[in-house]
Amino acid sequence: DGYAVSLWVNLGLGADLCQALSVPAEGVGLFRSEVPFMQCQVFPSEAKQTEIYRQILRAFAPKPVIIRTLDIGGDKTLPYFHVDEDNPYLGWRGLRFSLDHPDIFKIQLRAMVLASEGLDNLHVMVPMVSQVNEVRTVRRYLNAVVAQCQQEGRAVHLPALGMMVEVPAAAMQVRAFASSVDFFSVGTNDLVQYMLAVDRNNARVSSLFDCFHPAVLQLLQKVVDDAHACHKPISVCGELAADPLAAPLLVAMGFDALSMSATGLDTVRWVLHKLTLAACQKLLKKVLLCDNGEVVVSLLKEALKGAGLGYSVGLDEGE
Ligand code: PEP
Ligand code: MG
Repeated sequence: DGYAVSLWVNLGLGADLCQALSVPAEGVGLFRSEVPFMQCQVFPSEAKQTEIYRQILRAFAPKPVIIRTLDIGGDKTLPYFHVDEDNPYLGWRGLRFSLDHPDIFKIQLRAMVLASEGLDNLHVMVPMVSQVNEVRTVRRYLNAVVAQCQQEGRAVHLPALGMMVEVPAAAMQVRAFASSVDFFSVGTNDLVQYMLAVDRNNARVSSLFDCFHPAVLQLLQKVVDDAHACHKPISVCGELAADPLAAPLLVAMGFDALSMSATGLDTVRWVLHKLTLAACQKLLKKVLLCDNGEVVVSLLKEALKGAGLGYSVGLDEGE
């Protein structure tokens, strides 16, 4: 119906790059910078990181590329930096680690900024934020790094700075964060884990990891409304964006972009092509009245099947 939603691609492994370049995405919504860190034997140098980031930025230029700063901790560990914690998911993760290691963090920011010279498509994003002061500190570091590079004669500009919304406290405080960031992106993998108190990688409780839980859907709607009330763009870069059942709901909520692995893009594009915004909104209104995720999913399946999209959501025509 002419309503535009941007579809972006997520990247991590170098091998993803070729595949990502082969799909028609409007940009990179999430480059997981910890992946190259995990493949090294020591912390990669500024020069090494600059080379890695420049390869991605150049491959997609002039399209925007969101590079996320190091997100280790939880299930992601570095072979050369051991951390022993009783509860790693609630521990030294993501930005918390970076802010406690300004030396490592500033090298990473410098490498990103230097890699963007002459390309200017870099967007920087920080993970695992729970306090407004954390983002204010990042803003100060980023300003200082850019000023330093400019003093060294490099033709670099201040990139857009965004944050992941993946801790419930941050989701509740989007309006307070808005003056410190240029954009938001929702990490549903962690947001759902922390909202429902379900380890995202524990098979014993995997049936409880329910992205369609009404509490999750209501919070997602609040996050979009709050970001837009502050005139900030907001996307989803968690796995939920690649779910053809969820994509119509995310569009109806008002998300500006959905970012997903290259393999999910075609199906989501197809499903969204086939539905009008009004149909998505009608569906959203209906599911927001449900009191559990199971009912939400069956309503969604029924609706998409009715729209001739059963095959896209894994339903045989006879099912
Ligand atoms: C998320 O939490 O949804 C996310 C995109 O980040 P990651 O999966 O890398 O933790
Ligand atoms: Mg995450």
